[in-house]
Amino acid sequence: MASLPPTPFSSYRGRLAPSPTGYLHVGHARTFWTAWQRARAAGGTLVLRMEDLDPERSRAIYADAAMEDLRWLGIRWHEGPDRNGPHAPYLQSRRREIYLAAWRKLLDANAIYPCRCTRKDLDGALGAPHESSAPGVELGGGKLEPLDDEPIYPGTCRRYQGFTQQLPGPTGTEVEKPEGFNWRFRVPDGVAIEFEDLNLGPQRFVAGEDFGDFVVWRRDGVPSYQLACVVDDAAMEITEVVRGADLLKSTARQILLNYALGFPHPDWYHCRLVVDHNGRRLAKRHDALSLRTLRQRGVTPMKILAAELPEEG
Ligand SMILES: [Zn+2]
Repeated sequence: MASLPPTPFSSYRGRLAPSPTGYLHVGHARTFWTAWQRARAAGGTLVLRMEDLDPERSRAIYADAAMEDLRWLGIRWHEGPDRNGPHAPYLQSRRREIYLAAWRKLLDANAIYPCRCTRKDLDGALGAPHESSAPGVELGGGKLEPLDDEPIYPGTCRRYQGFTQQLPGPTGTEVEKPEGFNWRFRVPDGVAIEFEDLNLGPQRFVAGEDFGDFVVWRRDGVPSYQLACVVDDAAMEITEVVRGADLLKSTARQILLNYALGFPHPDWYHCRLVVDHNGRRLAKRHDALSLRTLRQRGVTPMKILAAELPEEG
């Protein structure tokens, strides 16, 4: 079992950002372990931020379980919902005002617009390219994992540039709150977003081709993952983001948000996704390979981190 990290002596600030929508599984364990190892190696600070924004799917019991499972693995953190710190609160569900300020800033900069499209409208946009046809992340063994499945928004509401007299709904002066619409970030079509990933090397995504206008605030009143993530990483002064390679394309989106909000870019280190013997992502086998289940079966943290996992069945 690893010991507690020493008192931070460098300006490195990393984070663990679990979503309490289920039990942590092996893939999470590897990524969080890597985040911890990198923070330790740098003599830095590690922050635990609970990404519990989705009121439908987030559960307090999963948040508690995530922290317990991380401790069981031997991972420790300096700031978090259980121990507080200078950037509290560390629960995203308690940081709404901070996200609202960012939404307002994006609105004032005309970087976002309200989208009235329903899911049905979007599904019905025939011929709209889907991002799932984009190249995936190489997982080793020649296998590719689609980066994410969000369809490219066809731009129906974009041409209104926010608010016009012809449209029902709010005018610019009336908008005080984001509720009631999906607010989309207008991406610069054709612009390549390039960054150096500290683990996977050079990355390149083209706005409007690899991803379209993405949601920063949801119709149901919840800030999107993309927005909350960049706002918190900036507010918590995160210098390096360690996360799974399934979020590479999100990093390209978040670079655009950082520019629009005037935030600095952290460094990125994306971990290869863990796959089973058949090349399937372990996330798809959430229950069978949850840390809880494995622990009950007597699997040790060392074995989980070394991928010596029992066969299914
Ligand atoms: Zn729309």
